[in-house]
Amino acid sequence: MVVGDVTTGTEVLVVGAGPAGYVAAIRAGQLDLDVTLVERDAYGGTCLNYGCIPSKALITATDVAHEAATAEEMGIHADPAIDLAGMIDWKDGVVDQLTGGVEKLCKANGVTLLEGTARFADENTVRVSHSGEGQGSESVEFEHAIVATGSRPVEIPNFQFDDEPILDSRQALGLTSVPDSLVIVGAGYIGMELANVFAKLKTDVTVIEMLDSILPGYDDDLKRPVKQRATDLGIDFEFGYTVSNWHDRDEGGIRVVAEPAEQAAADGGEEAEQLVDDRLEFDADSVLVAVGREPVSDTLELSAAGVETDDRGFIVTDSRARTNIDHIFAVGDVAGEPMLAHKGSTEGKIAAEVIAGEPAMLDQQAIPAVVFTDPEIATVGMTESEAIEAGFETTVGQFPFRASGRALTTGHSDGFVKIVADDAAGYLLGASIVGPEASELIAELGFAIELGATLEDVAATVHAHPTLSESVMEAAENALGHAIHTLNR
Ligand code: FAD
Repeated sequence: MVVGDVTTGTEVLVVGAGPAGYVAAIRAGQLDLDVTLVERDAYGGTCLNYGCIPSKALITATDVAHEAATAEEMGIHADPAIDLAGMIDWKDGVVDQLTGGVEKLCKANGVTLLEGTARFADENTVRVSHSGEGQGSESVEFEHAIVATGSRPVEIPNFQFDDEPILDSRQALGLTSVPDSLVIVGAGYIGMELANVFAKLKTDVTVIEMLDSILPGYDDDLKRPVKQRATDLGIDFEFGYTVSNWHDRDEGGIRVVAEPAEQAAADGGEEAEQLVDDRLEFDADSVLVAVGREPVSDTLELSAAGVETDDRGFIVTDSRARTNIDHIFAVGDVAGEPMLAHKGSTEGKIAAEVIAGEPAMLDQQAIPAVVFTDPEIATVGMTESEAIEAGFETTVGQFPFRASGRALTTGHSDGFVKIVADDAAGYLLGASIVGPEASELIAELGFAIELGATLEDVAATVHAHPTLSESVMEAAENALGHAIHTLNR
């Protein structure tokens, strides 16, 4: 169908159908608002198509293969053959099931779906260009808009994603043959999750990180088991280095040049010459660049609507997801850190509810964050040092998984549960877990913080035996000085 130069109207216009935008649209539909959702690429956004879901599918599949191959201690001797194309087909099937579900749910909630790229024409109108020859464009007038255009991977100089050997995470998740060797630039959560995936596919992985450790922002005690496990999997690390260039090799593959991170800062002289001598070179099939993500706010013509961004391009919002323009909201990655799907979905619901006149507001204190490495890391609320900095006198409880019967029966007993509470009142302030199923276990602690629960509440809750969740109870008991299965401090 050719769409001509028509103008339609809607109460709520949502731009972007990722986990922030589609959730906002569905919630607005539930609240009987007339909603139009514009998406230029694929329902489910980065999360469902190129991020959370495909990465977790491949993490699980490579874990299954790796577990089977390394279970001699349990009396299992196997050497699984990996058909990466088959694995990718299975992952794509999972993605299709979920993205099809999003489309159906939107329609079932009365959301009008519009395929195309939206740009603001003024503070009450967007122009939507439809992709494909002869598809034209149309204008949509709105009473309220919710911007949910997400983020994209940051490129670094000389490493353009349209050069074949240079991959972003989306391309890495779509490879159909296993590279023999891979350089990963950036040891953040995306780089580390994919380093584990490829190491378990038996790729030689080298991670180059400009800082001095993996997973910046996480406490050292949480990172230690992850770094150790990565090293055991054969992943090499080069800290304090940044990649500067690459070239094809006559023998095939590429050579990647890395320089000390200070090189960029040094501007000539003896110091710079010394640093040139410290250059490193790595031969690889491909390079995955995973140095961070930046907001997609520059292609929207936000200025036509008067919407302000900060100096990194994030749209500035308040705790009700409202921008500086009263009837325009922004949610998800484009509205700032933490760039996580569940933060975006929560903001999406809040924006829809505020538009419907409900008193909704974002409470940042109990937003969990998970790194799906081996073992997993999960955190919620404040760390011990953040709590002390915020003026609390803290008490801390810890329980090691090596003392958990269930952890030992899974063959994964590295790591611990750590709970931080207010010393006087016993309220939980934060928790961190590194170990098996940390991503699932953290939910109980987020819930406890939301409810204003105390250490006593968590300790007195009967946890089924034998489960990993008993470790949460024991960590609370440890803070109270009466854990049963570990020594109390
Ligand atoms: P997006 O999901 O990026 O969706 C934005 C949508 O807007 C896109 O579909 C885009 O096509 C559309 N769009 C943009 N501009 C326009 C326009 N002008 N007109 C129309 N449509 C437009 N987060 C987690 O919480 N857990 C994880 O385990 C996790 N793993 C990840 C793994 C990887 C490899 C990556 C890359 C990300 C991961 N994330 C994870 C982050 C997560 O994917 C994002 O936080 C989340 O997708 C943000 O949701 P969003 O709706 O804000 O944006």
